[in-house]
Amino acid sequence: MPVTSAAFGAGGSRFFPVPERVSFQPDPGADLPRSAEVIVVGAGFVGAWAAYHLAGAGMRPLVIEANAPASGASGRLCGLALAGVGGHFERVNALVRASSGRSIADYTCRSLDLLEDIDARLPGGIEWERCGSLDLLTDERQAADGRSMAELQRAEGLPVEILEPDDLRDMAPALDLNQARSAKWTPGDGQLNPFKLVYGLLEAAHRLGARTVRGVRVESVVARGGRVWGVETSHGTVQAGAVLLATNAWTPWLVPSIAANLTPIREHVMVTERLPRLLTQGFETNHCNEYWRQEPTGELLIGGHAATDEAMGIGTYSMATRREIVPQLARLLGRFHPALRDARVVRAWAGLLDFASLEIPMAGALPASDGTPLPGGYLVCGLTGHGLPYSSILALLVSELITTGASRTLPLNPFDPQRYVGTAHEPTWLSPFEGGLG
Ligand SMILES: Cc1cc2nc3c(=O)[nH]c(=O)nc-3n(C[C@H](O)[C@H](O)[C@H](O)COP(=O)(O)OP(=O)(O)OC[C@H]3O[C@@H](n4cnc5c(N)ncnc54)[C@H](O)[C@@H]3O)c2cc1C
Repeated sequence: MPVTSAAFGAGGSRFFPVPERVSFQPDPGADLPRSAEVIVVGAGFVGAWAAYHLAGAGMRPLVIEANAPASGASGRLCGLALAGVGGHFERVNALVRASSGRSIADYTCRSLDLLEDIDARLPGGIEWERCGSLDLLTDERQAADGRSMAELQRAEGLPVEILEPDDLRDMAPALDLNQARSAKWTPGDGQLNPFKLVYGLLEAAHRLGARTVRGVRVESVVARGGRVWGVETSHGTVQAGAVLLATNAWTPWLVPSIAANLTPIREHVMVTERLPRLLTQGFETNHCNEYWRQEPTGELLIGGHAATDEAMGIGTYSMATRREIVPQLARLLGRFHPALRDARVVRAWAGLLDFASLEIPMAGALPASDGTPLPGGYLVCGLTGHGLPYSSILALLVSELITTGASRTLPLNPFDPQRYVGTAHEPTWLSPFEGGLG
């Protein structure tokens, strides 16, 4: 069924499903304290970065995770850090500029610098590689889009370059130039090992006094006397001075007032067998749609193809893998890289993205049930498919807000969740999805 804007009528639709709780395996032996200075709910990128920053600022965060760290999207992604946040750049940048005068590139480039820095700090690093990225453009329309995006991004301080066929041949000799006629090259982009990032950050936070408890689900945020009191969990209540929700697509279950503006979208990744080094020039994207990279050990990861998922994966909380998507991802890889036509696929999985209706993430004060900010409550969600360029900086800014009362490194106001409360914006991300069906 085509996905059209009519599907986003008043009162919601299948694309704004009834919020669901994250499913989990309770740990009957979980040792959950009855109080904490600050609680972080969720141990993905956002929760792990927040625990690290809060512990670094002298607090003793308690991380409560329903499953295992990196069991959500942060252990299911491809692992690409794109400072240009794909096709979202122009619209997000306009909103960020309007509310802070800053560029979105100020935030995303800072995130990539934080990743580089943490790679040097954590024992064993995170396999960070500032390899650059090529956004492949297949026809004149895409080339024109690529050129105008490059112009905008350069004006916003993000170094990018358009490569014509001769340069592209030199840089990516394995590419089929009948498919990719030109490309946008972003040299500062990078890739990493997401498990090393989440576990490394948590271990560093633990060394500073943080704790992580897994197998415990937060069922609600408890407010008393007009402020956060703590949380109700599957294992009883925990009192805390502050609560930060880092709960991705499952956030609307805990914060119904944002449900009309946060859509879960399923996305797939598949992995090939180990192959000789082919992507010498960094990772590649397909006009900001699909994306692929090569691990240092040789496996190729490719993700995307929402266009062939049921209803494009929009509005589902299911993380079941749809087998029919895997051969389509494999064919796409073979189309751009003939040498990969017969590469064997060894694994595939799916995970949930949390798309914010206006494509700009939500980070800041938690809206109470009446929509007003609830003192002591915070959230970071709506990363809209770009966990790596957003999570480190937004977790840092919200941690600064928690520990000092204000974000210091950069203004946080562009991400104020209030822009999403009391209204249901028609998603601005819908048109690229409609285009994908053409
Ligand atoms: C297939 C796929 C490919 C992607 N590729 C990329 C990519 O290449 N680059 C990129 O930048 N981004 C990518 N993303 C997006 C990126 O993975 C996410 O934006 C990012 O991981 C979100 O981090 P998070 O911490 O917000 O959420 P998560 O990693 O999902 O963590 C949230 C955690 O909260 C826990 N939780 C939820 N509710 C509760 C509760 N009530 N109680 C206790 N715990 C709870 C969950 O169990 C989960 O572990 C991809 C995503 C997918 C699915």
